[in-house]
Amino acid sequence: MSKHGGAEPSSPHSSPPSAHSLGDMDPEDFRRHAHQLADWIAQYFSSIDLYPVLSRAQPGDIRAAIPDDAPEDGESFEAMLADFERVLMPGVTHWNHPGFFAYFAISGSGPGVLADFLSAALNVQAMLWRTSPAATELEEVTLGWLRKLLSLPDSFEGVIYDTASISTLHGLAAAREVAVPEVRAKGLAGRKNVSRLRIYCSEHAHSSVDKAVILLGLGHEALKRIPADGEFRMKADALEKAIEKDLAAHARPVAVVATVGTTSTTSVDPLPEIARICARHKIWLHVDAAYAGVAAMVPGFEWILEGAADADSLVVNPHKWLFTPFDLSAFYCRRMDVVRQAFALTPDYLKTVESAPVHNLMDTGIQLGRRFRALKLWMVMRHFGASGIRARIAEHMRLARLFADWIDASDRFERVAPVNFSVVCFRANGDDAFNEGLLDTINAGGEVFLSHTRLDGRYVLRLAIGNLRTTEAHVARAWSLLQQTFDQLHAG
Ligand code: PLP
Repeated sequence: MSKHGGAEPSSPHSSPPSAHSLGDMDPEDFRRHAHQLADWIAQYFSSIDLYPVLSRAQPGDIRAAIPDDAPEDGESFEAMLADFERVLMPGVTHWNHPGFFAYFAISGSGPGVLADFLSAALNVQAMLWRTSPAATELEEVTLGWLRKLLSLPDSFEGVIYDTASISTLHGLAAAREVAVPEVRAKGLAGRKNVSRLRIYCSEHAHSSVDKAVILLGLGHEALKRIPADGEFRMKADALEKAIEKDLAAHARPVAVVATVGTTSTTSVDPLPEIARICARHKIWLHVDAAYAGVAAMVPGFEWILEGAADADSLVVNPHKWLFTPFDLSAFYCRRMDVVRQAFALTPDYLKTVESAPVHNLMDTGIQLGRRFRALKLWMVMRHFGASGIRARIAEHMRLARLFADWIDASDRFERVAPVNFSVVCFRANGDDAFNEGLLDTINAGGEVFLSHTRLDGRYVLRLAIGNLRTTEAHVARAWSLLQQTFDQLHAG
């Protein structure tokens, strides 16, 4: 492939499309390439740490290496795979790398990758039960499995969306549906009898809450961020005061979003107290347990979802810490009828009658089409088993505590937040610029990738453990790189 010349003339089709192939890849070629790809992926999985974890591409590098126009004539799979390796791989940041410690580290595990391959082959679109009974019913079953592992009550019905942002959007859309009479028909604008609406979350809640509030037409100012305590947890008394103040001013509290595992520090908002406040004021409670929710499966960590049984909706992301390839977010709702009330709309061409009541996934949300995402969650859960999942999550938490112990014993670094799960927030002694320089130098090395946040106005480094391939040796390596780089920067 050349920038302006399209396909190299020396890249013929693997074999000419046969008369009956109708233009798709010939089945025998498909078989061969699928084996080739399986070999490529297996090799990749066993040698990811040979790549720099953070891509070293410069902005525009990848675009510049790809022709501006689509090829006029078809190209061979060999040519595509060669370009994938040569042009695209240098532009990949390796989320499956054992040295990936940034944001929330995740894993696309083998069973999940294989399930996505199968799902693409089936290409089912599960908008209606009949357009893929297996996709619809497997989604119900796997979300039931996960619900039981999290000890959530049966009254929670689940549905799979792509991301937690979309799950939270649907939770808050349902809350709006309950709070504002006839909002579906009449909307919000220009209605004299609709008060100003309010949503509450902690100052550390994820920006997906802001986006949902904006999209739902409440206006960004409707979101009240409640201050947190010294351990970054929402202050329940401050929440109650904010609600009472708004009620006194004739505003209408619509929902509270409580977070179990906040993005920066993984703090856990006091769910039981927040649930009591919501019940007292009849406010929808949505729990964002996108990252940490799965830890409730681990003995000793059940408490993190205490109070969730009284929530109205909850999100947990198997694509974060349940070894499921991106994307798969599980949304649970005690009042899925309200979600359906908000979104179900069936044009005549989609009306069906089945021999028994069924759920049509298109009714639970904004999307019509649905991927067969449940397949990967099902295969991941069957591959690891509940005990395997628990063991790995527990191991990640052990590694995080170990790293925190090293930080605590060091006179060059300080820890700046409790280690609740598998994330450690810390700083090197020195100002923000020194810490930023330390992070940039370490990340440029290619062995590890850490990210940062800002807490109480200070620049803070984060080490997040969540990849299946990360072992104690990788965490120890990150620690020794941090110390070495600290010394180098001080000396220089
Ligand atoms: N909620 C929390 C607590 C998060 O940390 C994140 C992202 O990291 C999200 C929600 C958004 O997740 P998603 O990318 O699935 O929308």
